[in-house]
Amino acid sequence: MSSSLATDARGLLLPCPACGTVNRIAYARLDGEGRCGSCGTGLPRVALPVEISGPADFAALLSQSPLPVVIDFWAPWCGPCQMMAPEFAKAAAQAAGQAVFVKVNTDAQPEIAGQFRIQGIPAFALLRQGRLVAQTSGFQPAARLLDWMRSA
Ligand SMILES: [Zn+2]
Repeated sequence: MSSSLATDARGLLLPCPACGTVNRIAYARLDGEGRCGSCGTGLPRVALPVEISGPADFAALLSQSPLPVVIDFWAPWCGPCQMMAPEFAKAAAQAAGQAVFVKVNTDAQPEIAGQFRIQGIPAFALLRQGRLVAQTSGFQPAARLLDWMRSA
């Protein structure tokens, strides 16, 4: 089982747990209940971090997602970011169906990091309806990240 989900310009790519077919979940329908286009099995809620593949996918997700979006800004060389990865994944699983958890590699996506004026990583941003609601930074356990998300 993959530890993150990929994107394309139109949606998240979610493998069917029954047959393995990759289904596209349109960004605008992230709060819905999907069925596998191949075998008809009900698809699970998005419970894994989403790995953004580029600025176009990122912009589409932010502008179209009916769910709040939590962004984890990280880089491969950042020790605290590596420690944060399993906590972020835990938060994504615990808040499945309530929010979408997105990972942005600041080395690979410098224009996105610049857009949020990211200084130190790990850093986090919370958006609702495409609008920036809150930002925070530094390692934190999943429970603290979820508290921050729910109280912001
Ligand atoms: Zn299927």
